[in-house]
Amino acid sequence: MTKPPKETQPTDEQRRSLLKNTAAATLGLSAFNAISPHETRAEELGTPHVETLPPQRPTNPAVRESVKITRLETFLVKPRWLFLKVHTNVGVVGLGEPITEGRPLTCAAAIKEMESYLIGKDPRAVQHHWQAIYRHAFYRGGPILTSALSGIDQALWDIKGKLLGVPVYELLGGPTRQRVRVYAHAGTPELVRQKRAEGFTAFKTLPPKLKDRNARQVENRAWIEHCAAKFGELKSIIGKEGDLGIDFHGAVPPGTAKMLMKELEQFHPFFYEEIINCQDVDGMAELAKATHIPIATGERIYTKWGFREILEKRAAVILQPDLCHAGGISEVRAVASMAEAYYASIAPHNPLGPISLAAGLQIAAAIPNFLCQEQVSLGDGYIKNPFKVRDGYVDIPTGPGLGIELDEAAMKDKLGEHEWKNLESFDPEDGSVTDW
Ligand SMILES: [Mg+2]
Repeated sequence: MTKPPKETQPTDEQRRSLLKNTAAATLGLSAFNAISPHETRAEELGTPHVETLPPQRPTNPAVRESVKITRLETFLVKPRWLFLKVHTNVGVVGLGEPITEGRPLTCAAAIKEMESYLIGKDPRAVQHHWQAIYRHAFYRGGPILTSALSGIDQALWDIKGKLLGVPVYELLGGPTRQRVRVYAHAGTPELVRQKRAEGFTAFKTLPPKLKDRNARQVENRAWIEHCAAKFGELKSIIGKEGDLGIDFHGAVPPGTAKMLMKELEQFHPFFYEEIINCQDVDGMAELAKATHIPIATGERIYTKWGFREILEKRAAVILQPDLCHAGGISEVRAVASMAEAYYASIAPHNPLGPISLAAGLQIAAAIPNFLCQEQVSLGDGYIKNPFKVRDGYVDIPTGPGLGIELDEAAMKDKLGEHEWKNLESFDPEDGSVTDW
């Protein structure tokens, strides 16, 4: 009988080398391989680092050299957006929208304060930088800090995709679909007809005001019937094969919300959005149990920790994280996985610009539980090759990173100031503050 060959034990040096190579190959961090230790001192910068692997070199010349962030640039864009450019030493620029509506200057200041951490860092360690910016703030979350972080996250994903020459969804395991359903805002019959002619099949509206006032704590029959009649009129134009959601905007008090929900059920809304303020998760969950229409919420909820309670309490089955508020592409991807475990779907909120839309499309193409993407601009006048709607859908982008390029010439007259500020709403009869 032949004696089996004696196994040789790897030396400690060989074991360390194997572990490094396996980790690098598994994580797909070929970009890191190109960074020699003397070029980037990872331990000093706090950035994960994998030593050089000789056999497989990246094909993109840009990643053969050390890549570092050199500058963060924000600029106001009409009507109410804030764009971010993250510059690198290799000429690749990442785009993001770090904005909370109505607070562009506050967000720009937050970006400025985050800049010092990022300067000199390798932009490709996206998750690492997300963690560092979020956790080192000590005071975590909230609209301003998380919106600033969201824009940075979008821009870092954009850079990573551009350096590797692939769309972001490829890096996230996609594509999971070939085209993405989008919906438009349409609050009047004229707008519905116009948007239908442009190719949309899904829409969203707000509760119409009666005598120029928003909902009171407990509304009268005239207010409820007015809302329902206006909604029914829009739905009759859209037809049974189209979809119309209604956004209560968190502005309808619970007593009125329950009556309005019941009255609207006859028209089979696509969803009820923010039926009450999302801070009252238990209240939302209670209302969700009182209707068969899907409840949607999420534009004012930040990070996976915010969405956890919504899911656990079954307050909504459609989550609407905003790519510019919830924590960016990284965090919305995580929220989508959490939602999947609860059989909930994702309909990204987006009343913002084309960078936000591009980020949402990347998410849609990377997750299994996508429903519909909100948009108010397909990028005309802002990006080269604006998105096009056909039969209610836009094709997933094929370009690297976020797949868009700013049209600097077309944007020239839209820079530097805004045309919009947050509303100040009061009851027309007694002057008290109302939500809007
Ligand atoms: Mg909303």
